[in-house]
Amino acid sequence: MVDAALPFTPRGSATDADRRAATDAVARPVVVQLRSVRKTYNPGTPIATEVLHGIDLVIQRGEFCAIVGPSGSGKSTLLNIVGLLDRPTSGMLAVCGKETTSLDDGALTRLRGHSIGFVFQYHNLITAFTAIENVMMPMLGAGEFPNDAMHTRAAVLIDAVGLKRWQDNLAGNLSGGQQQRVALARALAMDAALVLADEPTGNLDSRSADEVFALLRRFNRDHGTTVLFVTHNAVLADRCDKTIEVVDGQITGS
Ligand code: ADP
Repeated sequence: MVDAALPFTPRGSATDADRRAATDAVARPVVVQLRSVRKTYNPGTPIATEVLHGIDLVIQRGEFCAIVGPSGSGKSTLLNIVGLLDRPTSGMLAVCGKETTSLDDGALTRLRGHSIGFVFQYHNLITAFTAIENVMMPMLGAGEFPNDAMHTRAAVLIDAVGLKRWQDNLAGNLSGGQQQRVALARALAMDAALVLADEPTGNLDSRSADEVFALLRRFNRDHGTTVLFVTHNAVLADRCDKTIEVVDGQITGS
């Protein structure tokens, strides 16, 4: 279990006990809310394209949701907006109870850093850094924690994803599955309430894909971490609590 050894809980985030209690509660807090969200790329130009056409969505704390749909339907665009990496063209987005549309870039960056972890199809690790250094990166970026606390927490997370023996290996020397597990540990470094995973298993063999999925599931169950998981893998989607289907920029089922 990771919980017992966690050396700190970053400011502004719920404790693990809070999350478990919330997960058990009947009315769970809303982690993500979108109302009439639209996204147009290149607005005001001849190549303007609206790719999200008024999305309404509510995700509660502790939910583990698959996001499915054909290529080009808008899944990554939706995830980038929920992850505060891009802004909606119109509509309302709240993350962890905070309405985001009026926030400036600095406030968005702080909210993202404290509340959201990311895992992408390609791990985006710094290959010249060790596994443990990669996991420390989000904490270093926040600039709020002592070095020994960052190192201890990163070591706990590396152990939790089964890579203790490899923690001091350069990320570039690890296998694809191991690199994705480091990326998962990095996504959890700030004790994020929300993890956004964009096809994290898409580039892995089926055994590594199962391992990464099982780890995400375990963190979801043990810590109440809310997970949005974009996948083309129908078997893994079936193992999620709920499926959100995006077709032509609209949600068609859940
Ligand atoms: P999915 O993740 O479901 O494959 P995307 O969200 O990546 O879909 O893309 C949805 C649509 O938006 C596609 O038609 C894509 O070409 C277009 N698109 C994505 N990003 C951009 C961008 N930065 N500029 C212009 N069009 C984009």
